[in-house]
Amino acid sequence: MIQAPRLQVDALTRRFDGRAVVADVSLSVEAGQVTCLLGPSGCGKSTTLRMIAGVERPDAGRVIIDGVAVFGPGVNLPPEARGVGLMFQDFALFPHLTVARNVGFGLRGDRELKMKRIAELLEKVNLSGFGAKHPHELSGGEQQRVALARALAPRPRVMLMDEPFSGLDNRLRDGIRDSTLDVLKEEGAAVLLVTHEPDEAMRMADEIALMRDGRIVQQGAPYNVYNAPVDKQAAAFFSDINVIRGVSRGALTETPFGAFLTPGHPDGAAVDIVIRPQHLKIDFDRAGRGPNPTAADGTPARGVVQRARYLGRESLVEFRMDFDGSILTASVAGVFLPKPGAALWLMIRRDRCFVFPAQV
Ligand code: ADP
Ligand code: MG
Repeated sequence: MIQAPRLQVDALTRRFDGRAVVADVSLSVEAGQVTCLLGPSGCGKSTTLRMIAGVERPDAGRVIIDGVAVFGPGVNLPPEARGVGLMFQDFALFPHLTVARNVGFGLRGDRELKMKRIAELLEKVNLSGFGAKHPHELSGGEQQRVALARALAPRPRVMLMDEPFSGLDNRLRDGIRDSTLDVLKEEGAAVLLVTHEPDEAMRMADEIALMRDGRIVQQGAPYNVYNAPVDKQAAAFFSDINVIRGVSRGALTETPFGAFLTPGHPDGAAVDIVIRPQHLKIDFDRAGRGPNPTAADGTPARGVVQRARYLGRESLVEFRMDFDGSILTASVAGVFLPKPGAALWLMIRRDRCFVFPAQV
């Protein structure tokens, strides 16, 4: 028997003033998996989440949880009957209630079982011993963990999280993301997490659904979405990109960096060859000597350093290219700060570039 996904969303659509802000969004999330709905501000992420939660009414589509429609033709269960947990950016705790009462807020029934569940969750979020405190006695990170425990207490089948970390101090965030992920995995809910930060999605997601203008444009494991973007914007959403334009002839595009294979692009079609900064390689061996047309990674092209910045893990170096005066950016691991005006040879890793039809 094929198990239904924990959460299934079919062709969900929402219009405001005749404009579809969410259009035909479909996705599914298995129990114990985290899907990140990733996209720029205003692309429709929160509206999608709110429709799944039941606090926003879709114009069309279906929401199915454990094989049962909670929204669809003739069905519209209220939020509290959907078995979903919610966590938003401003996860306001009840200020007048203790931590334990906050966590137990959504729990019904037997007092002893309730106390047991509260203690279990406080331990999971590393706040054992905080039960009698009030929210104002806690740091932002601790409050966030209480909110997580509160949302998870009734064992929701689906956890919906809308930018839950964006209110937190940058320094705390990575640690809290990791510990949140551990707790979510232990609890086994299907998680749909909304974020506009690619780093957060890469860090947390089993699957990324990349959204733009109300639509999901690409869906897959973080590795695939990063390394096989569907178009130039999808590539650009994760990092700065370099673009070299050329014209495809006989499935080959000649550039100052040598020829690139461009199969599937018709003769005479303009193509964009897209390279992330870390895949633009400085050819240190050839520095100061001439280009070597037999090099495995194509032909090196010469550029003059405009500026170089050290960002901690990497250095970003901007070059003005001799061949057309365009600017290309290379990322070099560690410290590399050549002086402006220095000339260096650059190469492009053929296995790491993306080719798309040129966009005007
Ligand atoms: P995101 O969460 O990705 O930033 P939202 O889902 O909040 O995006 O919003 C998507 C679009 O829908 C935005 O253009 C927003 O202005 C619009 N929108 C959201 N809610 C309403 C509403 N109640 N009435 C009209 N427009 C809305
Ligand atoms: Mg939003």
